[in-house]
Parts: sequence; structure tokens; C-alpha cells
Amino acid sequence: MSTRDALNALQSQAGAGDGRDLVINCPKCRTQGAKAVAYDLVESMDVVIRHRTTWIKCLACGAKLYSKRKAEDLAGLSAEQLEKIVVVRISLISKLFAVLSILTCIIPFFGLVVSIIATLLNYRHRGWLRWFSLVGLIISIIPTVLFLIPRGH
Ligand SMILES: [Zn+2]
Repeated sequence: MSTRDALNALQSQAGAGDGRDLVINCPKCRTQGAKAVAYDLVESMDVVIRHRTTWIKCLACGAKLYSKRKAEDLAGLSAEQLEKIVVVRISLISKLFAVLSILTCIIPFFGLVVSIIATLLNYRHRGWLRWFSLVGLIISIIPTVLFLIPRGH
């Protein structure tokens, strides 16, 4: 798929030569000099609150990356310059579950369910999110198993 096709699929009004074709060092798939496109997303609630975010789609792996700057400000920046601007954004829900995974892991069943969700949300991320989720999952198996073992009277 060409950059232009991908951009048009994302944003139908994108015209030729609008300068939103980018080359990035993808933080997700680690491709150096990967082709990417930038697009703005405007979420509006009523007509008062308007929240604009800018996203970069890596065409090597299809990852949706968060841009700290607006799409129009990214034109002409090198892959090295973009490294500080284009990041993997982790949702609040993912972070919340990673922390809950540790906090609730001693509770039978509930802790297990929470850490399974946390692991599903976070296993593709690097760093503490994955470790919190996995450690929570491993620990939470113990109270659940102990709870299930019939106790003698
Ligand atoms: Zn990528």
C-alpha cells in the first residue's frame, strides 16, 4: 500500500502533496526509516469541548502512534527529530489495570480476573505495564488455588 492510499483511507479529504508523509523510526516495530502518515483526530463533545489529537500511522506495522505535535508541524522533520515527538501512547485503562493487577492479586478469583484482563491489555507493551500485569497474574493464581482446595474439618 502506498503512503497516499493509506492517507486517503484515513482521511478522504487528504490531497496530494499536503506534506503529511513522514519517515519515522517506529517505536513499536523498531523499523528504522519506516514510512508513516500523520492525521488529526478531532473529538467533539457537544459543540463546546473539542479535543484534537494527532496520530501517526506506521505503514510498516500499522501501529497507531501518538504525536505530541500537530500534523502540520511535523512536515520536514527527520526520523531522529520525530523520535522525541512520536510516542506509543498507553491508555489510562491499561495503566489502571496494570496497577490493579498488583493491588488485587491476593483476592481469590477477583484478583485473577483483573490480572488476566491486565495481561491481555498490556502483554504487547514493554516495561512496567507488562511486568505489573504478569507478576499480578502469577501471584493471583496462588490465593485462587488455595481457595479451591477443600479444607478438612
Ligand atoms: Zn511500526
